[in-house]
Amino acid sequence: MDGRVQLPVLQWIKENYAVDFVDVITEAGMDNVLSNQADISEVLRSISISVNVNKSCKLFVAGHYDCRGNPVDEEMHRQHITGAVKRLKSHWPTHEIVGLWINKDWKVTIISSQPASPPKTT
Ligand SMILES: [Zn+2]
Repeated sequence: MDGRVQLPVLQWIKENYAVDFVDVITEAGMDNVLSNQADISEVLRSISISVNVNKSCKLFVAGHYDCRGNPVDEEMHRQHITGAVKRLKSHWPTHEIVGLWINKDWKVTIISSQPASPPKTT
């Protein structure tokens, strides 16, 4: 949700991945929501549209310093981001899921990554 975070993340993704567009889905404290909230159906619905209609092939979960929606320390953010990546992977096993941490200088680093797995062939 935090506007301070979105531009650095979008820039970083475009510099590091061959993507044309990035769909942004926001919640206050998304890392905590995806890691700990029982009902995440609204977020999953948004991701489904991005994946099915816009053909997104990579998903990024971003957690950041000074997050007012999830005011915990960095270590806890890292746990939430890692948990969020695992949870999304269970919904989109064939997609690459990357967890990002944005520090107090708005620098982006990968802290958790699940590669795309090939679709099952029968
Ligand atoms: Zn935030």
